[in-house]
Amino acid sequence: MFLVDRMLGKLAKKLRLLGFDTIYLPHAQEEQIIQLCKQNNRILITRDRLLHMRALKNGLRSHLIHSDNWRDQLVELSSRFDLKNTNRMTRCSLCNAELEKIPVEKIKDRVPLYVQNTQNDFFICPVCNRVYWAGSHVQHAIEEFRRLRI
Ligand SMILES: [Zn+2]
Repeated sequence: MFLVDRMLGKLAKKLRLLGFDTIYLPHAQEEQIIQLCKQNNRILITRDRLLHMRALKNGLRSHLIHSDNWRDQLVELSSRFDLKNTNRMTRCSLCNAELEKIPVEKIKDRVPLYVQNTQNDFFICPVCNRVYWAGSHVQHAIEEFRRLRI
């Protein structure tokens, strides 16, 4: 869905938590970014006006971000994309991989006892092995989305 340009790492993480397939390439060259967007039909999200213009000239979809704060950046994006009806908590915020459901027995040593007793659903990232559940930091992010009316 999205390809996020440098300086927008926090925004990339939030987009993944919202459920969007989001590639973050902080060190990619312009040419590489344009090619990747073309090949994978991704929407470029950038703060670089020249890159934005170049993407548009290449017939790509691109969104120029103005704010330097991830909350305002999300609000900017929400004026153009539907950020409300998304599959939240389906992707790892670190590596963009789709999370898989995992029985609590398999991660007992990695989750505090009170969490095991109060949560029903656990997910794991198949790439980095990070464990997610609804009460983790993810919930904090989702509450922030709500405050932003996203
Ligand atoms: Zn991961």
